[in-house]
This record gives sequence, structure tokens and C-alpha cells, in this order.
Amino acid sequence: MIKAEELTIKKTGELLRARAFSARELAEAFLKKIELENKKINAYIEVFDDCIKDADRADRAIAEGGGDALTGIPLAIKDAILIKDRRCSAASRMLEQYRATYDAHVISRLRGAHAVFIGRTNMDEFAMGASTENSAFGPVKNPHDISRVPGGSSGGSAAAVAANLALGALGSDTGGSIRQPASFCGVVGLKPTYGAVSRRGLIAMASSLDQIGPIAKNVDDVEIFFNAIRSKDPEDSTSLEYRPNSVPAGRRTIIGVPRDFLKGVDADVLAHFEQTLKKLSENGYEIKDIAIPHIASSLSVYYILMPAEASANLARFDGIRYGLSVQGGDIFSTYKNTRAHGFGREVQRRILLGTYVLSAGYYDAYYNKANAVRGLIKSEFEKAFEEADIIATPTAPTPAFKIGEIKDPVSMYLADIFTVPVNLVGIPAISVPSGTVSREDSSLPLGFQAMAPHFGEERLFEVGRSVEKIR
Ligand code: GLN
Repeated sequence: MIKAEELTIKKTGELLRARAFSARELAEAFLKKIELENKKINAYIEVFDDCIKDADRADRAIAEGGGDALTGIPLAIKDAILIKDRRCSAASRMLEQYRATYDAHVISRLRGAHAVFIGRTNMDEFAMGASTENSAFGPVKNPHDISRVPGGSSGGSAAAVAANLALGALGSDTGGSIRQPASFCGVVGLKPTYGAVSRRGLIAMASSLDQIGPIAKNVDDVEIFFNAIRSKDPEDSTSLEYRPNSVPAGRRTIIGVPRDFLKGVDADVLAHFEQTLKKLSENGYEIKDIAIPHIASSLSVYYILMPAEASANLARFDGIRYGLSVQGGDIFSTYKNTRAHGFGREVQRRILLGTYVLSAGYYDAYYNKANAVRGLIKSEFEKAFEEADIIATPTAPTPAFKIGEIKDPVSMYLADIFTVPVNLVGIPAISVPSGTVSREDSSLPLGFQAMAPHFGEERLFEVGRSVEKIR
């Protein structure tokens, strides 16, 4: 009997290579579990029953002695990442019937490792949201309390891992979409350095902020997964050669805390965060207050730049080239009908916002100004990293909220207050479960967010493992 609850990527890899069970048996066990349990949480939009063929290929690779860390590992893929010949919808009516014509770069990497893709996961439409309530295919439920959201936009990916319906999952993070759902679901999520993982084949939201990254049950697994997907891709001009940037040996790691920024956090979430810092200091870390004076403007900057880029990226969905087409009498009515029917409310709102901030007369006042403040925040982070090796905050100001609880969009945007600065600056950050708080009858996970300078993923894994040890 294969017990998904007891398996991690690392342990499963070892068991597969020791022939304790085959990749086929493992895939069958996961498919069965998904069939029984996915209805309850709606993490998957589609399950790939034919992934048994991938599993057989993995078994052959192992038989030939060629298995590596991800060979035969069942992975779930956020439905914004293209897998050749499979549907890819971005959880939108616009792309409900669309089939990918090529593999995303990360998918080619994972195929090369003989990983097994078991399905595509639910998400906020076009990755816009923090609760996965904006999916055209219904909300995802948090496995810790199904009356609550899993976070978003990679809510299906985080919930699938938390519910043991995959050993790992790919997400994408433009302003927090890997880390915030990881925090709400009690799993580990990494937003890599911008450029460390190719974006080719990721349906674009805001190209200067988007990054694909891994979600898994623990830090070791996320590290294995990240090392498998990172690589320079000549077909993504923003992808970079990886140059690890670890803490110099022979001294304590310094964790900087921008305390002025931690306003508006639920009291017990803040107390828990302070408790984690205290335990880290008892375990050899130096904790230090730091200032990043304009960090509090990050959310405002993000909600100008992100919609601007998203409105430009989403202009391609016009009823002519891709996906849905709702014909009108002339080309303009075809555009109008298609976009009115194909896009949900939040996507329409952001296209309107983005088009507005880019329009003549407002471009300087909004877009250019936001870009200038982005530059300022970047240089303030650079300065802060001269004083600290890691910067820490809670991942989110609250634990998972109820489905339907947050009705106005601006309150929803506040869920990302601590996660967006990282995307503006292009640096990596991780969310690691650090404990729980109670809400009503539920015990809900909290995430500890650690940020590092460019290519500092190793620092994140180190501090992440310490958080796992002390929690
Ligand atoms: N919740 C944020 C938003 O709605 C982040 C989304 C993301 O990272 N894709 O923009």
C-alpha cells in the first residue's frame, strides 16, 4: 500500500530507485486518490489518466540505471504552463478549448528528468487573484478547512500538495501567487530569482514580474525541484546563467526585519512571527531591525505596473488568433463580444486599469512614476542587503480567510502586501510553514517569508530548514 501522506519527493525518489514500488504503481495510487478526493477541494481542472505512459517511461529509465531525483515523481502543473497537445486554459473561458502547441521550457526540463505530470491545477483566471475564487471552473477549497480559500493564484497547486494529491506542483508568482497559497495551505513555496527559471510557455500576466517556481511539502523537496527547473534558456531573453550567492562562510547569518512595515498584521500572526524570530536567534541567527523606507509603496506600484503589463499581454486574446471567438457583425464587435464573454470580472477590471495608466496624458503621472518608485525600492533593498543576508516578514498578514469573505477587490489586494516587493525587485523568496493559529474551530497554517539577494536561493533553503527544525 502506497501512503501518499508519508511520501516526499526525496524519499519517493529513493524508494523508486530501490524498486520498493514502480512509478506506474505510484501514479496509479495518486490517480485513485485524486478520483476520490479532488471533488471535495477542486484542486485539479483536469487529471491526466494517460500519465501512466510517462510512468512507464520513468520505470524504463530506472531499469536502465538512469533515474535521477525527479524520475517517476507525480507532479501537478498550474494551468498556465503549456504542455504540448494538452489543454491549457489559465482557468479562463477564453482558453477553455485551447491546446498547447509546444512544451514550456520547464516542462521540457521535467520531461528530460522523467517526471510524471498527473494533471493541471486550478487557479485564479490568468493568475489574477489571491484566493482562487476567480477561476472560471469554481473555487478551490483549503484542505485544512474546506470553508476557506487556499490562497491564490496558484491555489490549486498548493492545495493539491497539501492534500497529498501530488508530491510537488509548479506555480507561478507575479506578486505572491506561489508564496501566499503555500502559506495558507501549510506547504513550502519558492519564488525564484527573476531570470533563474525560463518563462517560455508560461501564459504571461506581467512579464517583468512573472516567475515560475516550485511548491512541495518541505524545503529539501523544493530545492530538488528548483534545481531541476532552473536553467538559462536562449529563447527567453530575460533568462540568466545561474551564479549562486550564498552567505560568506565563518559567520552568523543576519536576518533583517523591516519592523515599520509590519502594520496591519493580525495580532496573533505577528506574535507568532516574533516567536519564530526568537527561536531563530536562539539557533545561531542574528536578528536585526532594518529600514526599507519605500517598501510600503510596493503594493501601489505593483497595482499600476502589473495591470499595465497585463493589459498589453492580454490584448492578444481578440477572438481572431487564440481561443474563444464570439462573432459580431464586424471585426470590432467580434473583439468586443469575445472579450466581454471570455474574460471574468477581475481580468476585465485589470485590463481597464492597465489601459488607463498607459493612456496618453496619464502615462507620465502613473506608469512612469510607478517605474521610478520601483527603481527606488530596488536600490533600498540593495542597501538593506549590505546589512542583512536575509530579510524576513510573515508571508501574509492573515491565515486563510473564508470563501466569499472578502468582497471588495482592494481588500483582496492587501493579501499581497508582504509578497509583492520581491517581484518588483526581482529577488527570490520562500514561504515556509512556521506553525498555526486558530480561527473558529480550525487550526490554520502560517508561513514565514524569507527574501534573499539575486541568486540567493541557497540562503533561503538554509534558513527554511532552520524554520522547519524549530517549529
Ligand atoms: N494576488 C496577486 C494579484 O492578484 C498576485 C498574483 C500573482 O502572483 N499571479 O495580482
